[in-house]
Amino acid sequence: MIDFELDETLQGVRDMLHWFAESEVRPVALAADRAHAFPDAFLRKVKEMGISMGALSRAEDEQKQRKGPKTVNRVAAIASEELAWGDGAFMLSVPGPGLGGPPVQFLGTPEQKERFFTVFTKDAEARYGAYGLTEPGAGSDVASIRTTCRREGPDWILDGAKCFITNGGRAEWVVIFATSDPSRGREAHRAFVVEKGTPGFRVGKIEKKMGLRASETAELILEGCRVPDANALGTNEGFLGAMKTFDTTRPMVAAMAVGIGRAAIERSTQFARDSGLLKATSMRARLIADQLATAERKLEVARLLIWRASWMADEGKPNAREASMCKAYAAQSALEACTVAITAMGAAGCAGDSLVEKWFRDIKVFDIFEGTGQIQRIVISKRLLEGLKGF
Ligand SMILES: Cc1cc2nc3c(=O)[nH]c(=O)nc-3n(C[C@H](O)[C@H](O)[C@H](O)COP(=O)(O)OP(=O)(O)OC[C@H]3O[C@@H](n4cnc5c(N)ncnc54)[C@H](O)[C@@H]3O)c2cc1C
Repeated sequence: MIDFELDETLQGVRDMLHWFAESEVRPVALAADRAHAFPDAFLRKVKEMGISMGALSRAEDEQKQRKGPKTVNRVAAIASEELAWGDGAFMLSVPGPGLGGPPVQFLGTPEQKERFFTVFTKDAEARYGAYGLTEPGAGSDVASIRTTCRREGPDWILDGAKCFITNGGRAEWVVIFATSDPSRGREAHRAFVVEKGTPGFRVGKIEKKMGLRASETAELILEGCRVPDANALGTNEGFLGAMKTFDTTRPMVAAMAVGIGRAAIERSTQFARDSGLLKATSMRARLIADQLATAERKLEVARLLIWRASWMADEGKPNAREASMCKAYAAQSALEACTVAITAMGAAGCAGDSLVEKWFRDIKVFDIFEGTGQIQRIVISKRLLEGLKGF
């Protein structure tokens, strides 16, 4: 039996976060885009309300202890769509371990989890974790990272650079992926939690981006950076940890894209209604109505793919294929939705004080980060050719 209805708890989460997105996030989104940041006081308030990014990994452990049904990935998908409907950059600025959470959860010891996750609950400040995989010469081709790690007594010495790291500049700690031998590819990958203030670890430039401007994206530099062995995650499962992270985070990122696409379709439909555009029986009215309907249909399909991939993660089923499917499809569908919205609104959609203009700039990156569209299709085709299926 397939049930497409959200249960009372999930519906409650959705309603509450939608209210928050509409009443608190939307009104400040354009100003934050111009300022390239959300105000600290606003982010502290978000934390005070118990909204946290990446806390799902921690919540997973708590649910296991309570022995209740596991829903953290579904909650994360629903929350991501609603909060990104409010603003995509806001969603990436929600305090918490962020993308750094899953590798600590998957590879960390109980002591490491305790140490690194309690950083976020110790006080009222908005605190962040981050995930440092991408390098200037290694984006899609993760196996070719060049940041090195070598053992020196009780410590590890890390050398290299990471780029485009979300919240990297303000993070309390960053999970850094490094290699003990670049000639051995993914087998030699290791993961380390590098804490803010570690000697040899510094923040480079903060990117000025086309979209998602209020989300911080940083370059990180490691020069003879000394990290204690107690901060090494797992042994040689660095590559696995990096990839497993994506199985839970790709559906979330896909859900954010759907939230933005949905916002754009709602706004342009309202515009078409208010401006009398859809009343006319003209060719233009029919064309716009058809484009809006197509965009709406694709977003709905994307949401179903996301819910399935999230449900599989909650059930502990392998979902790499489904996570890639929903990410590839949602990013493209949402980009199409934002394009249709601008087309329907014409110049009004391009104006600098129009949220649709902002969403159009914000959405493109969803087909780039967390693995580009092409990379998702490679993941899917590999499984197809190898005869592997999620279920
Ligand atoms: C706003 C933002 C936030 C980010 N946050 C993080 C973060 O927190 N942590 C982190 O580690 N990284 C982060 N990234 C980096 C992001 O994950 C990479 O940009 C992404 O993986 C793509 O890598 P690249 O930019 O080097 O592009 P490339 O890998 O150089 O790709 C360029 C183009 O070539 C295509 N291509 C590459 N290889 C293939 C192939 N084998 N077959 C077909 N086509 C291919 C790609 O699809 C793409 O179209 C972020 C990026 C942005 C823009």
